[in-house]
Amino acid sequence: MEVLRDIVSIKRMISEWKKQDLQIGLVPTMGALHEGHLTLVRKAKDLADRTICSIYVNPSQFNNPTDLSNYPRPIEDDLKKLEAAGCDVAFCPVDAEMYAENDKLEITFGHLTEIMEAKYRPGHFSGVAKVVSKLFNIIRPDHAFFGLKDLQQFHIISVLNRALHFDVQLHGIPTVREADGLAMSSRNGRLSFEEKTLAVGFYKALTHGKTCLNDDQTVKQVKRSVKNIVSEFKDLELEYFEIVGANDLKPVTKVHPGDELALCIAGYLGEVRLIDNIQIKSEF
Ligand code: AMP
Repeated sequence: MEVLRDIVSIKRMISEWKKQDLQIGLVPTMGALHEGHLTLVRKAKDLADRTICSIYVNPSQFNNPTDLSNYPRPIEDDLKKLEAAGCDVAFCPVDAEMYAENDKLEITFGHLTEIMEAKYRPGHFSGVAKVVSKLFNIIRPDHAFFGLKDLQQFHIISVLNRALHFDVQLHGIPTVREADGLAMSSRNGRLSFEEKTLAVGFYKALTHGKTCLNDDQTVKQVKRSVKNIVSEFKDLELEYFEIVGANDLKPVTKVHPGDELALCIAGYLGEVRLIDNIQIKSEF
């Protein structure tokens, strides 16, 4: 596996691959890789001729400087994992490469930048959209792979891809979980064993929410019930729980049989912020 750190080198490699008509798959990450990320890499390998995984902790998507400085960066470990997964290139740029211009660019996405993650992390998706646009322009991938754990991010990137005519084939990959249901996350590395058994409370609250919806409870009742479940887990602090349409992420106030929905949750365990979601079709 090649490890490339500068844009000129990766562009050179890409243009060689394009000349050979090879299909390129990109997996953008911020490192601290786990099975979730590696599942994306394997999918890329299945679908494309060459797989690039970018590892870049993008400063413009952090609205909290402590979160940025605490973000884990086990780069040597990450490179070993990528090599073992059969990745062709790890692209690990530095800030001076990615943000050579001190740009003031802001990107917004209507209601998608007003709800859930966007509401609690102002500017986050503008930063995500910027870095993904930069990566798409540098790498010009045929396919790009994203986790549905970051559901709102996936929707935003889909809009970006269409609006700016990147013409990348996007693939949303289902959330990879620990055996107890905890969604894998780089941030879980900051949790002790005991804290992980509490963090699973967010997933338990989501599955409880699904049961309540299928029992024909109202959105208001489900929200109250989910809040109660979270409060049963010591130290878990709920930021939001939202029931939204799975296709447009618009919050719903009433559920109809057969509706395709996403139940989305976010909150803190101590200083560690966690998010999760499940997608359901209401069955009542
Ligand atoms: P991150 O490094 O957290 O920015 O994540 C990089 C990519 O991996 C994003 O597209 C995430 O949605 C995806 N990802 C993170 N955790 C998981 C998971 N547990 N299952 C599937 N994909 C994931």
